[in-house]
Amino acid sequence: MPLRKLVLMLMLFPVALLFAQPLADQSEEMICKEIDEYRASFGSLARPVTNDAMFDYDVKWYDLYFDLDPVNEVIQARTQILFQSEVNALSTVILDLTDVLTVDSVFGAGTEFTRGGDLITITLTDTLALGEQAILGIAYHGQPQAEVGFQGFEFGSHNGHPIISTLSEPYGARSWWPCKDSPRDKADSVAITIRAPGDLIAVSNGMLVNTIDNLDGSKTWFWQHNYPITTYLVHLAVTNYEYWTDVYHFSDGDSMPLEYWVYPEYYSTFYTRWQTDTPYIMDAYNELFGKYPYENEKYGMVQFNWGGGMEHQTCSSMGGAGEILNAHEMAHQWWGDMITCADFHHIWLNEGFAAYSEALYAENRFGTASYFSAMSNKDWDFYGSIYRVDTTSVNSIFNRIVYDKAAWVLHMLRHVVGDENFFDILTQWRNEYEFSTVRTEDFQNVAENVYGSDLTWFFDEWIYGAGRPLYRWWWGVQNTNNDSTIITLQVDQTQDNSYPTYTMPIDIHLSDATHDTVLVVWNDSRSQEFSLALPFNPGTVQFDPEKWVYRRATQVTSLDEETLLANDFSLGEGYPNPFNGAVTFPIHTGFRQVVKVSIFNILGEQVFSDQIVADGTYRYLWSGISSESQVLGSGVYLVRIDNGDFQHQMKISFIK
Ligand SMILES: [Zn+2]
Repeated sequence: MPLRKLVLMLMLFPVALLFAQPLADQSEEMICKEIDEYRASFGSLARPVTNDAMFDYDVKWYDLYFDLDPVNEVIQARTQILFQSEVNALSTVILDLTDVLTVDSVFGAGTEFTRGGDLITITLTDTLALGEQAILGIAYHGQPQAEVGFQGFEFGSHNGHPIISTLSEPYGARSWWPCKDSPRDKADSVAITIRAPGDLIAVSNGMLVNTIDNLDGSKTWFWQHNYPITTYLVHLAVTNYEYWTDVYHFSDGDSMPLEYWVYPEYYSTFYTRWQTDTPYIMDAYNELFGKYPYENEKYGMVQFNWGGGMEHQTCSSMGGAGEILNAHEMAHQWWGDMITCADFHHIWLNEGFAAYSEALYAENRFGTASYFSAMSNKDWDFYGSIYRVDTTSVNSIFNRIVYDKAAWVLHMLRHVVGDENFFDILTQWRNEYEFSTVRTEDFQNVAENVYGSDLTWFFDEWIYGAGRPLYRWWWGVQNTNNDSTIITLQVDQTQDNSYPTYTMPIDIHLSDATHDTVLVVWNDSRSQEFSLALPFNPGTVQFDPEKWVYRRATQVTSLDEETLLANDFSLGEGYPNPFNGAVTFPIHTGFRQVVKVSIFNILGEQVFSDQIVADGTYRYLWSGISSESQVLGSGVYLVRIDNGDFQHQMKISFIK
């Protein structure tokens, strides 16, 4: 989903998201506006796990009707659900629905209901046997909630015109329609009918099957989507859109509409960018990932009032026309929509794949250098694990780690298993899980089956583990004669002991004026020596020069230097500790250098960071504030100092 975090980073590092030319991204003007609008809170709907009893039934289809009143910002709506009992005697059906909306009536297989806790519990008139199906209808009205998670349901405006749009990921579908709001249960199809003022165009998932002029100043739009879909990917977007369409030709001769809806005032800029980029991106993904999953319907993009994008099924909602955003959201049609994380602990299977697809697209269209450049732009220090332990907040789920570091994990997997295996893994992934939902272990199984070998070590250190290896390496000639040279390669891992000891194959490039070769060493301990035999005496030795490993590496010219440097960087005890007003901690460096100071809360979230130039002993004073100068709460915090080669950390207690 949401590329919002990426957008925030773009503000800080204006070039960070740009590939090598000629890719473009959103204008800075738009980005500033987005930051003003940035609010990510769940309000009352911070409930990741739907009620267990919801899994007593399986949803077959949803039929949704919305009558939109943009003037009063209310909806009159109706949802019908075809469901099947998964138990022997199903007597109640529980659905997610915000308490903010008023239920007028329930009809069909039951009429009695109770509300509360953002749930509606419906008593069935007749108990259903295992496998038996029935239809329930819920008529309701009110003002749906905006600002649920990323957006929820929003009545907004652009250029003096109303824009009604939705963005439900992760738990926001229930803020505007009753549903079983879990990605695990995909409906086989969904129908969305929207009645709106006649001067507006209503866009949704799938195909527009009919439009009716109601002869009362309103129009009704009938959308139908006939593929499996999870609740958070259902959407609507309604305003005075400028619309155009194009035809995409698949390599096998089939074709499909490409459809675009933008605000009239943005038409010229969006038209040029989308017409230029979209067919190239579609070509690349069809070649790399197999045919577009919803070929019988459409791929569309619709502008909405949210900075960033959202991969609504068959129709991405877009806050900008940038090429990377386009590539990211379209990739989700395969990774996220066709194959969906079963719950948000595994969101990297959506976001990491989409973020990595940006690089694959860059490689496919512009070549290898653009691929590595795209990966380089995702190379940040991340803390915590890609597997998201806390799924109760947007900030925790959509931490940038699930985009950028997860993209690096796929990049590394590609190098570990080799190109052919890697793309076979993607093919197999699709073959096994198309239109269903997945967890990390499913992907590991597919990868292991194709690779033919256990990959637990890889997933343990990169998906469940935190941090990155900090390598220090040294090489020297051990022995040489006319026929051969043996060199010694010393590789140490200097990351803090709280991080894993990494196992990784590392490319060592060795060359002289007439030779050039790559040897792969499997490094799997904190301190390791390798002897490499060569038919020539290399003048140059390079350590992972293309950067296939999410790491940092420093070459030392002597093993003594390594010891010296290691001993000359330290973090002294903080005082007072516990502290009330401010804490001081001494940072010692043997020579003048830049030191990054970071402070993390107990959840592992970075709350403060700073950078200093230290030479000798520097007494760092921290007064319990965040990077945004907000006073933080009482609790245990972790202080980390990092000079690029080494890290030290300690705990401090803040008592207010
Ligand atoms: Zn995304």
